Amino acid sequence: MARINENYLKLKAGYLFPEIARRVKAFAEANPTAKIIRLGIGDVTEPLPEACIKAMKAAVEEMGVRETFRGYGPEQGYPWLREKIAIHDYQSRGCDISAEEIFVSDGSKCDTGNILDIFGDDNKIAVTDPVYPVYVDTNVMAGHTGKANEKGEYEGLVYLPITAENNFTAAIPEEKVDLIYLCFPNNPTGATATREHLQAWVDYARDNEAIILFDAAYEAFITEPSIPHSIYEIPGAKDCAIEFRSFSKNAGFTGTRCAFTVVPKNLKGKTRDGQQVDIWQLWYRRQSTKFNGVSYIVQRGAEAVYTEEGKAQVAALVKFYMENARIIREELTKAGLKVYGGVNAPYVWVKTPEGLSSWEFFDKLLQQAHVVGTPGAGFGAAGEGYLRLSAFNSRENVIEAMNRITSTFNFN
Ligand SMILES: *Cc1c(COP(=O)(O)O)cnc(C)c1O
Repeated sequence: MARINENYLKLKAGYLFPEIARRVKAFAEANPTAKIIRLGIGDVTEPLPEACIKAMKAAVEEMGVRETFRGYGPEQGYPWLREKIAIHDYQSRGCDISAEEIFVSDGSKCDTGNILDIFGDDNKIAVTDPVYPVYVDTNVMAGHTGKANEKGEYEGLVYLPITAENNFTAAIPEEKVDLIYLCFPNNPTGATATREHLQAWVDYARDNEAIILFDAAYEAFITEPSIPHSIYEIPGAKDCAIEFRSFSKNAGFTGTRCAFTVVPKNLKGKTRDGQQVDIWQLWYRRQSTKFNGVSYIVQRGAEAVYTEEGKAQVAALVKFYMENARIIREELTKAGLKVYGGVNAPYVWVKTPEGLSSWEFFDKLLQQAHVVGTPGAGFGAAGEGYLRLSAFNSRENVIEAMNRITSTFNFN
């Protein structure tokens, strides 16, 4: 009989979202007339920008004509898209990133997992707590951890708590680590990293020959001008950081699929015997072998994000969600709740009231206001005592959900 990868058996069986679904289903069955509003999911709700639709329709037409039909494209993405990303997302912000350093892909979720292919199995790995579960689970699958304890922490990983006590900044570790996952603006807490905080991380990484895996999926939601949008805005980051970006949240591509990863040409790793190797070369080889590129049609759609029309439409989408976030923050504050995030990210991170646990507060909101959040404890041990609300919803639903919460509860 074929042997399996037993690391999969160490995974806590995808507990969070199935458990939410189970509780919502049970409540809905017992209360068939309740109109449940879901503010739990990290998925966009508004349709694609018109500029992207137009570009994709034109690309579909091209595919139907012999002269303009395209087969396999370059695995790293078409040069016209990589060029626009380099110019608009990086060079315009003073970051010295070239088109060659951009690798277009079908998602940041897969890239943040796949990147482990090019790193050794004996790296010390640090993640924040709470965390986007993909970073942890892909390391478990790759055999980089031991078993999970009763709090859900895996042996062998270094957890960096991000809580109100440290202003949601991941403290620089005392020990030496080799790979560090950072996500700012943060999912799930909605927190951001200042320039000074990121500089401290870049300095640490350079001093310790570590690599930062920087997930900037939410950079478009930054409203405060002092907050960096890219790790490459920080001097020295090109020597120690890989950045993941996605069109999922800014342009609503969660179902369309397009993202990119930036691997600087001068980024180095080393072999067991101390020889330096270019990381770019390894990722190029990995993608060329295991990936066949993103659909031509979708890449044309992503390219349209960088037109004047596309930029304006994406800005309007972001503004729409951030207005939802503002409403959530203000109404919950009125109800006497302590809230974080929601200023530079589409997530509001709510401190549970009256000493309730994450799941107790989840149940209370569901049963009394028929509103679904995401228990913070599901994102890591340090998320206990918090609940995440997402601004990805219709205005109508957000207002209705907040009316219910403010009229049902007074935690003042
Ligand atoms: C949504 C999200 C992404 C984007 O993933 P895609 O696969 O590109 O849709 C990446 N990182 C985080 C933390 C996210 O929440």
